[in-house]
Amino acid sequence: MTVETFPITRTDAEWQRLLTPEQYRVMRGHGTEVPGSCALLHEKRRGVFHCAGCDTPLFASNDKFESGTGWPSFNEPEPGAVETSVDRSHFMVRTEVHCAHCGSHLGHVFDDGPPPSGLRYCINGVALVFHPQE
Ligand SMILES: [Zn+2]
Repeated sequence: MTVETFPITRTDAEWQRLLTPEQYRVMRGHGTEVPGSCALLHEKRRGVFHCAGCDTPLFASNDKFESGTGWPSFNEPEPGAVETSVDRSHFMVRTEVHCAHCGSHLGHVFDDGPPPSGLRYCINGVALVFHPQE
């Protein structure tokens, strides 16, 4: 991976303090949570999903859909909220998704999603914090 700089940078020790061990494993170690393990999968309220690393709004609840994969899935991110990179791990070529502000790993994006975007952002629920709309 190339080393990028992000608007928000923290040291590894800061990340370990800020995040739970599971969040740290997923977001800073490019891990994947166990499918169906996150309560946000079933979050049906209106609101916005923020980055657990820097609180940037990433995905709106009306872009969320039930993909059946066990991970929260979204049609589209908020404009400019996420960036992607090519992930060649696990003998696959996938498109990795990370927060544009702090660089934390969020999940992957696939091109088999529903219209209008045709995209499926498959995101680890632990990387997200849900802010319900008032
Ligand atoms: Zn972030």
